[in-house]
Amino acid sequence: MNIDNLEKVLATEPKYRLTQAKEAVLKNFISNWAEATFFTKELRDKLNKECPLEINSDVLVSKKEDSVKARITLHDGLQTETVLMRHEDGRNTVCVSSQVGCPLGCLFCATGKMGLKRSLTTNEIIEQVIFFNRYLKKIIPSEVEGLFHGVTNVTFMGMGEPFLNYNNVLDAVRIFNDYKYFNIGVRSISISTAGIIEGIEKLSNEKLHVNLAISLHAPNDKLRSELMPIDKKYPLPKVLKAVDEYIKKTNRKVMFEYVLIKDVNDLPENARELATIMNKKLYFVNLILYNDTGIYEASTTQRVKEFRDILEKLKIRYTQRYRFGDDISAACGQFKTT
Ligand code: SAH
Ligand code: SF4
Repeated sequence: MNIDNLEKVLATEPKYRLTQAKEAVLKNFISNWAEATFFTKELRDKLNKECPLEINSDVLVSKKEDSVKARITLHDGLQTETVLMRHEDGRNTVCVSSQVGCPLGCLFCATGKMGLKRSLTTNEIIEQVIFFNRYLKKIIPSEVEGLFHGVTNVTFMGMGEPFLNYNNVLDAVRIFNDYKYFNIGVRSISISTAGIIEGIEKLSNEKLHVNLAISLHAPNDKLRSELMPIDKKYPLPKVLKAVDEYIKKTNRKVMFEYVLIKDVNDLPENARELATIMNKKLYFVNLILYNDTGIYEASTTQRVKEFRDILEKLKIRYTQRYRFGDDISAACGQFKTT
């Protein structure tokens, strides 16, 4: 798919043609301009040639059928991965990538091992959500079409560090949020960062208050910098200070993600130390089970329980993330293309 030239191709047409074209792609999710019957045959052919809508992808569906991974091949041959998670309550969340690979090299993350190939354009980010809207449209039978909600939530938790591609990510967020197009509420859009302070600061000055998540993974700089090299550049106290400023400005809660890794960060003393820094209004912890990426092991069930019990006792608000799609390498941290 390439709609980068849409405005140019329609430049000689009346203005409302561009609105119609955008609605067709970003709201009605057509997959070929032939479906845009309100355009002349000539214009449809021209658009198919110059702004093709076909998305080049491979799809994997998990055994439980509640998650679907798509690997999309981009114009330069690089590939990006994106996952659809279908929740029992009817929500459809898409986890999108913001970059191909990631330069930050967190030790537990498969994407980090790839290094950075390049950042994605705004259109390449929204293409991932378009893909799953088309997919859902196809699999939801026409007799229940009235119930079609398409993609209801978007999280920037796929490949890449969103705040190292700030402008394109925010442009994509604006398009997701636009009621004329995807119409996804800001409260249903989340950005997860490894703690890029400039990004947190910039976000706090945006009018769009999406959900912010910080990849924490350790309660102190010594351990965190071993797991996440970026901690040396952006140490924990400075990240937390930026988060506090963000909360002051936005009054939004912030989620801290903590992947439980056996014998690395899952000890009772880690939980107690975590509680000392998470003990603030509007902070909450999201515990994530480690998904296998070749190094480290996941915490045992007993250890996870002990960890949770300590947080509970110390009155820390926390949730534990449901694990989607680990059988198709579609779970957090398992995204990887070559
Ligand atoms: N770069 C951003 C967003 C993408 S990563 C960030 O790091 O926040 C999305 C989430 O998956 C992050 O919280 C990340 O730390 C987590 N993650 C990475 N590797 C993982 C693994 N092996 N198991 C479970 N979660 C992992
Ligand atoms: Fe990059 Fe996030 Fe993976 Fe770290 S966890 S390497 S920041 S994608």
